[in-house]
Amino acid sequence: MAHKLLYIETFGCQMNVNDSERIVSMLADLGYAATDDPATSDMILLNTCSVRGGAEEKVYRRLANLRIYKRGGKKQIIAVGGCVAQQEGEELLRKLPYLDLVIGTHNLHLLPNMVRGAERGERRSETTFIDNEQRADLFPAIKGESRLSRFVTVMQGCDNFCSYCIVPYVRGREISRRSTDILTEVRQLADEGVREVILLGQNVNSYGLKTASEPTFAELIHQIAAIDGIDRIRFTTSHPKDMSDELIACFCDVPKLSGHIHLPAQSGSDDVLKRMGRGYGRESYLDKVGKLKALRPDIVFTGDIIVGFPGETDADFEQTLSLMEEVRYIDLFSFIYSPRPRTRAAELADDLSRTVKMARLDRLMELQRRHTREISHTYIGSVMSVLVEGEGKLPGQVSGKADIGRTVNFSGDSSLIGSFADVRIVKAYPNSLLGEPL
Ligand code: SF4
Repeated sequence: MAHKLLYIETFGCQMNVNDSERIVSMLADLGYAATDDPATSDMILLNTCSVRGGAEEKVYRRLANLRIYKRGGKKQIIAVGGCVAQQEGEELLRKLPYLDLVIGTHNLHLLPNMVRGAERGERRSETTFIDNEQRADLFPAIKGESRLSRFVTVMQGCDNFCSYCIVPYVRGREISRRSTDILTEVRQLADEGVREVILLGQNVNSYGLKTASEPTFAELIHQIAAIDGIDRIRFTTSHPKDMSDELIACFCDVPKLSGHIHLPAQSGSDDVLKRMGRGYGRESYLDKVGKLKALRPDIVFTGDIIVGFPGETDADFEQTLSLMEEVRYIDLFSFIYSPRPRTRAAELADDLSRTVKMARLDRLMELQRRHTREISHTYIGSVMSVLVEGEGKLPGQVSGKADIGRTVNFSGDSSLIGSFADVRIVKAYPNSLLGEPL
Protein backbone atom coordinates (compact mmCIF):
# COMPACT_ATOMS: atom_id res chain seq x y z
CA MET A 1 0.00 0.00 0.00
CA ALA A 2 3.05 2.23 0.40
CA HIS A 3 3.30 4.96 -2.19
CA LYS A 4 5.82 7.33 -0.61
CA LEU A 5 9.51 6.71 0.01
CA LEU A 6 11.45 7.39 3.21
CA TYR A 7 15.24 7.64 3.26
CA ILE A 8 16.87 7.47 6.73
CA GLU A 9 20.54 7.90 7.64
CA THR A 10 21.39 6.73 11.13
CA PHE A 11 24.44 7.86 13.11
CA GLY A 12 25.82 6.58 16.41
CA CYS A 13 24.66 3.91 18.76
CA GLN A 14 22.29 0.96 18.74
CA MET A 15 19.60 3.09 20.42
CA ASN A 16 19.50 5.21 17.26
CA VAL A 17 19.40 2.17 15.01
CA ASN A 18 16.45 0.95 17.04
CA ASP A 19 14.74 4.37 16.88
CA SER A 20 15.19 4.39 13.09
CA GLU A 21 13.46 1.01 12.88
CA ARG A 22 10.67 2.43 15.03
CA ILE A 23 10.36 5.46 12.71
CA VAL A 24 10.10 3.23 9.63
CA SER A 25 7.43 1.19 11.40
CA MET A 26 5.46 4.30 12.51
CA LEU A 27 5.58 6.00 9.13
CA ALA A 28 4.51 2.81 7.31
CA ASP A 29 1.02 3.64 8.63
CA LEU A 30 1.22 6.92 6.66
CA GLY A 31 2.13 5.07 3.47
CA TYR A 32 5.93 5.48 3.60
CA ALA A 33 8.28 2.63 2.66
CA ALA A 34 12.04 2.69 3.29
CA THR A 35 14.40 3.35 0.40
CA ASP A 36 18.20 3.51 -0.02
CA ASP A 37 18.01 6.35 -2.52
CA PRO A 38 17.70 9.91 -1.18
CA ALA A 39 17.27 11.33 -4.69
CA THR A 40 13.92 9.64 -5.35
CA SER A 41 12.64 9.78 -1.77
CA ASP A 42 9.67 11.84 -0.54
CA MET A 43 11.23 12.29 2.89
CA ILE A 44 14.81 12.36 4.16
CA LEU A 45 15.48 11.92 7.88
CA LEU A 46 18.88 12.15 9.57
CA ASN A 47 18.82 10.32 12.90
CA THR A 48 21.79 11.93 14.61
CA CYS A 49 24.20 11.30 17.46
CA SER A 50 26.18 13.94 19.37
CA VAL A 51 28.32 11.74 21.60
CA ARG A 52 31.55 12.52 19.71
CA GLY A 53 32.98 15.95 18.96
CA GLY A 54 32.21 17.53 15.60
CA ALA A 55 28.80 15.83 15.37
CA GLU A 56 26.88 19.08 14.90
CA GLU A 57 29.11 20.27 12.03
CA LYS A 58 28.81 16.85 10.41
CA VAL A 59 25.01 17.09 10.48
CA TYR A 60 25.03 20.59 8.98
CA ARG A 61 27.39 19.40 6.23
CA ARG A 62 25.30 16.33 5.47
CA LEU A 63 22.09 18.36 5.34
CA ALA A 64 23.72 20.81 2.93
CA ASN A 65 24.61 17.86 0.69
CA LEU A 66 21.16 16.31 0.87
CA ARG A 67 19.25 19.50 0.17
CA ILE A 68 20.27 19.33 -3.51
CA TYR A 69 17.55 16.72 -3.99
CA LYS A 70 14.93 19.23 -2.91
CA ARG A 71 15.90 21.81 -5.50
CA GLY A 72 13.79 22.59 -8.53
CA GLY A 73 10.59 22.90 -6.52
CA LYS A 74 10.54 19.20 -5.58
CA LYS A 75 8.20 18.48 -2.68
CA GLN A 76 10.41 16.60 -0.29
CA ILE A 77 10.36 16.64 3.52
CA ILE A 78 13.73 16.99 5.23
CA ALA A 79 13.83 16.11 8.94
CA VAL A 80 16.46 15.80 11.69
CA GLY A 81 16.01 13.55 14.71
CA GLY A 82 18.18 12.17 17.51
CA CYS A 83 20.64 13.88 19.84
CA VAL A 84 21.72 16.79 17.60
CA ALA A 85 18.02 17.63 17.03
CA GLN A 86 17.48 17.57 20.79
CA GLN A 87 20.52 19.75 21.39
CA GLU A 88 19.97 22.36 18.65
CA GLY A 89 16.15 22.43 18.50
CA GLU A 90 14.51 25.47 16.83
CA GLU A 91 17.95 26.82 15.98
CA LEU A 92 18.22 24.22 13.21
CA LEU A 93 14.95 25.41 11.64
CA ARG A 94 16.07 29.02 11.94
CA LYS A 95 19.45 28.40 10.31
CA LEU A 96 18.27 26.03 7.57
CA PRO A 97 15.28 27.34 5.60
CA TYR A 98 14.98 24.10 3.62
CA LEU A 99 14.61 21.99 6.79
CA ASP A 100 11.02 20.97 7.65
CA LEU A 101 11.12 19.00 10.92
CA VAL A 102 13.24 18.75 14.06
CA ILE A 103 12.25 15.87 16.29
CA GLY A 104 13.75 15.47 19.78
CA THR A 105 14.65 12.24 21.53
CA HIS A 106 11.45 12.19 23.64
CA ASN A 107 9.07 13.19 20.84
CA LEU A 108 9.05 10.30 18.38
CA HIS A 109 5.38 9.62 19.17
CA LEU A 110 4.57 13.04 17.61
CA LEU A 111 6.29 12.22 14.32
CA PRO A 112 3.26 10.97 12.34
CA ASN A 113 1.38 14.22 13.07
CA MET A 114 4.45 16.28 12.31
CA VAL A 115 4.89 14.50 8.97
CA ARG A 116 1.21 15.07 8.08
CA GLY A 117 1.74 18.77 8.83
CA ALA A 118 4.95 18.88 6.79
CA GLU A 119 3.10 17.34 3.83
CA ARG A 120 0.87 20.45 4.01
CA GLY A 121 3.96 22.68 4.14
CA GLU A 122 4.23 23.21 7.92
CA ARG A 123 7.65 23.49 9.54
CA ARG A 124 7.89 22.32 13.16
CA SER A 125 10.36 21.56 15.95
CA GLU A 126 9.48 19.40 19.00
CA THR A 127 12.16 18.87 21.60
CA THR A 128 10.31 19.01 24.93
CA PHE A 129 11.46 16.46 27.49
CA ILE A 130 8.56 14.40 28.76
CA ASP A 131 8.28 13.43 32.42
CA ASN A 132 9.03 9.86 33.33
CA GLU A 133 5.45 8.87 34.15
CA GLN A 134 4.32 9.60 30.60
CA ARG A 135 7.48 8.27 29.00
CA ALA A 136 6.82 4.71 30.18
CA ASP A 137 4.05 4.58 27.55
CA LEU A 138 6.16 5.92 24.71
CA PHE A 139 7.88 2.84 23.38
CA PRO A 140 5.68 1.75 20.48
CA ALA A 141 6.57 -1.76 19.39
CA ILE A 142 8.33 -2.05 16.07
CA LYS A 143 6.17 -3.62 13.39
CA GLY A 144 7.53 -4.77 10.09
CA GLU A 145 9.38 -7.58 8.48
CA SER A 146 9.76 -10.53 10.75
CA ARG A 147 13.30 -11.28 11.86
CA LEU A 148 14.85 -13.91 14.06
CA SER A 149 16.61 -11.47 16.33
CA ARG A 150 14.96 -8.29 17.61
CA PHE A 151 15.88 -5.42 19.91
CA VAL A 152 13.57 -4.75 22.83
CA THR A 153 13.99 -1.43 24.64
CA VAL A 154 13.92 -1.95 28.41
CA MET A 155 15.05 1.48 29.59
CA GLN A 156 16.14 4.83 28.23
CA GLY A 157 18.14 7.83 29.37
CA CYS A 158 20.81 7.95 32.02
CA ASP A 159 21.28 9.36 35.52
CA ASN A 160 25.02 8.79 35.76
CA PHE A 161 26.34 12.07 34.35
CA CYS A 162 29.83 10.73 33.59
CA SER A 163 31.86 13.89 33.27
CA TYR A 164 32.52 13.55 29.51
CA CYS A 165 29.10 12.37 28.38
CA ILE A 166 26.31 14.34 26.75
CA VAL A 167 23.74 11.51 26.89
CA PRO A 168 21.86 12.62 30.06
CA TYR A 169 21.40 16.08 28.48
CA VAL A 170 20.13 14.87 25.10
CA ARG A 171 18.40 11.61 26.04
CA GLY A 172 17.09 12.72 29.41
CA ARG A 173 16.99 11.04 32.81
CA GLU A 174 16.76 7.30 33.26
CA ILE A 175 13.38 5.62 32.86
CA SER A 176 12.67 1.90 33.02
CA ARG A 177 9.86 0.55 30.93
CA ARG A 178 7.16 -1.43 32.76
CA SER A 179 8.17 -5.10 32.95
CA THR A 180 4.62 -6.18 32.08
CA ASP A 181 4.91 -4.27 28.76
CA ILE A 182 8.35 -5.74 28.05
CA LEU A 183 7.17 -9.29 28.72
CA THR A 184 4.08 -8.79 26.54
CA GLU A 185 6.27 -7.53 23.70
CA VAL A 186 8.71 -10.45 24.03
CA ARG A 187 5.84 -12.97 24.06
CA GLN A 188 4.44 -11.38 20.89
CA LEU A 189 7.85 -11.53 19.25
CA ALA A 190 8.18 -15.21 20.20
CA ASP A 191 4.76 -15.86 18.63
CA GLU A 192 6.00 -14.15 15.44
CA GLY A 193 8.98 -16.54 15.29
CA VAL A 194 11.69 -14.38 16.87
CA ARG A 195 14.29 -16.64 18.54
CA GLU A 196 16.64 -14.07 20.09
CA VAL A 197 15.97 -10.79 21.89
CA ILE A 198 18.56 -8.11 22.59
CA LEU A 199 17.55 -6.03 25.61
CA LEU A 200 18.47 -2.44 24.95
CA GLY A 201 19.12 0.66 27.04
CA GLN A 202 21.81 3.19 27.94
CA ASN A 203 22.51 1.26 31.15
CA VAL A 204 20.38 -1.87 31.30
CA ASN A 205 22.05 -2.97 34.55
CA SER A 206 20.20 -0.32 36.50
CA TYR A 207 16.84 -1.43 35.08
CA GLY A 208 14.08 -1.30 37.71
CA LEU A 209 16.32 -0.12 40.54
CA LYS A 210 14.40 3.13 40.98
CA THR A 211 10.91 1.60 40.93
CA ALA A 212 10.13 -0.62 43.90
CA SER A 213 7.37 -2.47 42.07
CA GLU A 214 9.59 -3.53 39.16
CA PRO A 215 11.98 -6.50 39.05
CA THR A 216 15.74 -6.01 38.93
CA PHE A 217 17.41 -6.55 35.58
CA ALA A 218 18.55 -10.02 36.67
CA GLU A 219 14.97 -10.92 37.62
CA LEU A 220 13.72 -9.57 34.29
CA ILE A 221 16.22 -11.80 32.45
CA HIS A 222 14.91 -14.85 34.36
CA GLN A 223 11.32 -13.90 33.43
CA ILE A 224 12.21 -13.49 29.74
CA ALA A 225 14.14 -16.77 29.77
CA ALA A 226 10.94 -18.53 30.87
CA ILE A 227 9.16 -17.49 27.64
CA ASP A 228 8.85 -20.43 25.24
CA GLY A 229 10.26 -19.78 21.78
CA ILE A 230 12.93 -17.33 22.93
CA ASP A 231 16.17 -19.31 22.85
CA ARG A 232 18.79 -16.63 23.32
CA ILE A 233 18.98 -13.37 25.26
CA ARG A 234 21.58 -10.65 24.87
CA PHE A 235 21.77 -7.17 26.36
CA THR A 236 23.56 -3.92 25.79
CA THR A 237 24.93 -1.72 27.24
CA SER A 238 26.17 -2.25 30.78
CA HIS A 239 27.62 0.11 33.35
CA PRO A 240 30.25 -1.76 35.40
CA LYS A 241 29.23 -0.08 38.67
CA ASP A 242 25.72 -1.54 38.34
CA MET A 243 26.91 -5.03 37.40
CA SER A 244 25.52 -6.74 40.50
CA ASP A 245 26.43 -10.23 41.76
CA GLU A 246 22.83 -11.19 41.02
CA LEU A 247 23.30 -10.19 37.38
CA ILE A 248 26.72 -11.85 37.18
CA ALA A 249 25.10 -15.08 38.45
CA CYS A 250 22.70 -15.02 35.47
CA PHE A 251 25.66 -15.92 33.23
CA CYS A 252 25.74 -19.25 35.06
CA ASP A 253 22.06 -19.75 35.98
CA VAL A 254 20.39 -18.75 32.70
CA PRO A 255 21.58 -21.00 29.86
CA LYS A 256 19.70 -18.82 27.34
CA LEU A 257 21.84 -15.79 28.24
CA SER A 258 24.52 -15.17 25.59
CA GLY A 259 28.16 -15.67 26.57
CA HIS A 260 29.09 -12.18 25.42
CA ILE A 261 29.04 -9.00 27.47
CA HIS A 262 29.81 -5.42 26.49
CA LEU A 263 31.32 -3.88 29.60
CA PRO A 264 32.83 -0.45 28.89
CA ALA A 265 35.83 0.29 31.13
CA GLN A 266 36.71 3.67 29.47
CA SER A 267 40.15 3.70 31.18
CA GLY A 268 42.39 1.44 33.23
CA SER A 269 43.64 4.24 35.49
CA ASP A 270 41.97 5.01 38.81
CA ASP A 271 42.88 8.70 38.52
CA VAL A 272 41.28 9.01 35.10
CA LEU A 273 38.21 6.97 36.10
CA LYS A 274 37.75 9.32 39.04
CA ARG A 275 37.89 12.40 36.82
CA MET A 276 35.46 10.70 34.44
CA GLY A 277 33.07 10.23 37.38
CA ARG A 278 32.53 6.58 36.51
CA GLY A 279 31.79 5.40 40.05
CA TYR A 280 34.17 2.42 39.99
CA GLY A 281 37.91 1.86 40.07
CA ARG A 282 40.22 -0.46 38.18
CA GLU A 283 40.20 -3.14 40.89
CA SER A 284 36.43 -3.29 41.17
CA TYR A 285 36.10 -3.50 37.35
CA LEU A 286 38.62 -6.35 37.18
CA ASP A 287 36.94 -8.05 40.13
CA LYS A 288 33.66 -8.20 38.17
CA VAL A 289 35.46 -9.45 35.07
CA GLY A 290 37.13 -12.15 37.21
CA LYS A 291 33.78 -13.26 38.67
CA LEU A 292 32.23 -13.47 35.20
CA LYS A 293 35.16 -15.52 33.89
CA ALA A 294 34.97 -17.84 36.90
CA LEU A 295 31.25 -18.48 36.37
CA ARG A 296 31.42 -18.72 32.58
CA PRO A 297 34.97 -19.55 31.45
CA ASP A 298 34.13 -19.12 27.75
CA ILE A 299 32.63 -15.63 28.22
CA VAL A 300 33.66 -13.00 25.68
CA PHE A 301 34.13 -9.31 26.51
CA THR A 302 33.85 -6.23 24.36
CA GLY A 303 34.36 -2.71 25.69
CA ASP A 304 34.85 1.01 25.13
CA ILE A 305 38.00 3.02 25.88
CA ILE A 306 38.48 6.79 25.69
CA VAL A 307 42.06 7.79 24.85
CA GLY A 308 43.54 11.17 25.83
CA PHE A 309 41.08 12.23 28.53
CA PRO A 310 42.21 15.56 30.12
CA GLY A 311 45.27 14.96 32.30
CA GLU A 312 45.86 11.37 31.09
CA THR A 313 49.58 10.73 31.72
CA ASP A 314 51.80 8.13 30.05
CA ALA A 315 51.47 6.07 33.24
CA ASP A 316 47.65 6.32 33.11
CA PHE A 317 47.71 5.15 29.52
CA GLU A 318 49.98 2.20 30.40
CA GLN A 319 47.38 1.25 33.03
CA THR A 320 44.76 1.11 30.29
CA LEU A 321 46.94 -1.17 28.17
CA SER A 322 47.56 -3.44 31.16
CA LEU A 323 43.81 -3.58 31.88
CA MET A 324 43.29 -4.68 28.28
CA GLU A 325 45.91 -7.42 28.80
CA GLU A 326 44.02 -8.65 31.87
CA VAL A 327 40.53 -8.57 30.35
CA ARG A 328 41.44 -9.56 26.79
CA TYR A 329 38.53 -8.06 24.89
CA ILE A 330 37.58 -9.71 21.62
CA ASP A 331 36.62 -6.28 20.25
CA LEU A 332 37.08 -2.79 21.54
CA PHE A 333 35.52 0.52 20.53
CA SER A 334 38.21 3.12 21.14
CA PHE A 335 37.83 6.86 20.75
CA ILE A 336 39.94 9.96 21.12
CA TYR A 337 38.49 12.25 23.79
CA SER A 338 36.67 15.32 22.51
CA PRO A 339 34.91 17.81 24.81
CA ARG A 340 31.12 17.92 24.55
CA PRO A 341 29.04 21.00 25.39
CA ARG A 342 27.50 21.25 28.89
CA THR A 343 29.56 18.37 30.30
CA ARG A 344 31.81 18.78 33.35
CA ALA A 345 34.88 17.52 31.49
CA ALA A 346 34.50 20.34 28.95
CA GLU A 347 35.71 22.65 31.73
CA LEU A 348 38.94 20.67 32.19
CA ALA A 349 41.94 21.69 30.10
CA ASP A 350 42.05 19.44 27.03
CA ASP A 351 45.81 19.37 27.54
CA LEU A 352 47.11 16.60 25.29
CA SER A 353 48.23 17.28 21.75
CA ARG A 354 46.54 15.57 18.84
CA THR A 355 49.87 13.85 18.07
CA VAL A 356 50.05 12.29 21.55
CA LYS A 357 46.40 11.20 21.42
CA MET A 358 46.86 9.64 17.98
CA ALA A 359 50.05 7.83 19.01
CA ARG A 360 48.26 6.37 22.04
CA LEU A 361 45.26 5.35 19.99
CA ASP A 362 47.53 3.62 17.45
CA ARG A 363 49.25 1.62 20.21
CA LEU A 364 45.94 0.66 21.76
CA MET A 365 44.47 -0.44 18.44
CA GLU A 366 47.57 -2.47 17.63
CA LEU A 367 47.25 -4.31 20.96
CA GLN A 368 43.55 -4.87 20.33
CA ARG A 369 44.18 -6.29 16.86
CA ARG A 370 46.56 -8.81 18.46
CA HIS A 371 43.99 -9.80 21.10
CA THR A 372 41.21 -10.16 18.50
CA ARG A 373 43.49 -12.34 16.38
CA GLU A 374 44.67 -14.51 19.27
CA ILE A 375 41.22 -15.03 20.79
CA SER A 376 39.60 -15.73 17.41
CA HIS A 377 42.23 -18.38 16.62
CA THR A 378 41.42 -20.27 19.83
CA TYR A 379 37.99 -20.99 18.31
CA ILE A 380 39.41 -22.99 15.40
CA GLY A 381 38.34 -26.61 15.87
CA SER A 382 35.61 -25.80 18.37
CA VAL A 383 31.89 -26.39 17.78
CA MET A 384 29.48 -23.45 18.07
CA SER A 385 25.71 -23.30 18.04
CA VAL A 386 24.79 -20.74 15.37
CA LEU A 387 21.39 -19.08 14.94
CA VAL A 388 21.17 -18.98 11.13
CA GLU A 389 19.81 -15.60 10.11
CA GLY A 390 20.36 -15.34 6.37
CA GLU A 391 22.48 -15.95 3.29
CA GLY A 392 26.25 -15.92 3.81
CA LYS A 393 28.92 -13.85 2.09
CA LEU A 394 29.47 -16.34 -0.71
CA PRO A 395 26.99 -18.30 -2.83
CA GLY A 396 26.00 -21.54 -1.10
CA GLN A 397 26.76 -20.12 2.33
CA VAL A 398 24.51 -19.16 5.21
CA SER A 399 25.37 -16.84 8.05
CA GLY A 400 24.39 -16.35 11.66
CA LYS A 401 25.55 -15.45 15.13
CA ALA A 402 27.21 -17.79 17.59
CA ASP A 403 26.46 -17.59 21.29
CA ILE A 404 29.52 -15.37 21.81
CA GLY A 405 28.10 -12.82 19.35
CA ARG A 406 30.54 -13.59 16.49
CA THR A 407 29.25 -13.87 12.93
CA VAL A 408 29.81 -17.35 11.51
CA ASN A 409 29.55 -18.15 7.78
CA PHE A 410 29.30 -21.77 6.68
CA SER A 411 28.09 -23.81 3.72
CA GLY A 412 24.39 -24.56 3.77
CA ASP A 413 21.14 -23.68 2.05
CA SER A 414 18.39 -21.27 2.95
CA SER A 415 16.26 -24.03 4.54
CA LEU A 416 18.54 -23.64 7.57
CA ILE A 417 17.49 -20.02 8.13
CA GLY A 418 15.63 -19.73 11.42
CA SER A 419 17.21 -22.77 13.04
CA PHE A 420 20.20 -23.33 15.29
CA ALA A 421 23.01 -25.29 13.63
CA ASP A 422 26.10 -26.88 15.17
CA VAL A 423 29.11 -25.67 13.25
CA ARG A 424 32.81 -26.54 13.55
CA ILE A 425 35.02 -23.46 13.18
CA VAL A 426 37.74 -23.88 10.57
CA LYS A 427 39.05 -20.37 10.04
CA ALA A 428 39.13 -17.07 11.93
CA TYR A 429 38.95 -13.61 10.34
CA PRO A 430 39.17 -10.27 12.18
CA ASN A 431 35.37 -9.80 12.22
CA SER A 432 33.93 -13.23 11.56
CA LEU A 433 34.50 -16.97 11.64
CA LEU A 434 34.27 -19.57 8.91
CA GLY A 435 32.77 -22.94 9.80
CA GLU A 436 31.56 -26.20 8.40
CA PRO A 437 28.25 -27.79 9.39
CA LEU A 438 28.40 -30.93 11.52
S1 SF4 B 1 26.67 5.76 31.94
FE1 SF4 B 1 27.95 7.57 31.62
S2 SF4 B 1 28.79 7.22 29.55
FE2 SF4 B 1 27.02 5.86 29.73
S3 SF4 B 1 25.30 7.05 28.91
FE3 SF4 B 1 25.32 7.39 31.13
S4 SF4 B 1 26.51 9.28 31.40
FE4 SF4 B 1 26.95 8.52 29.34
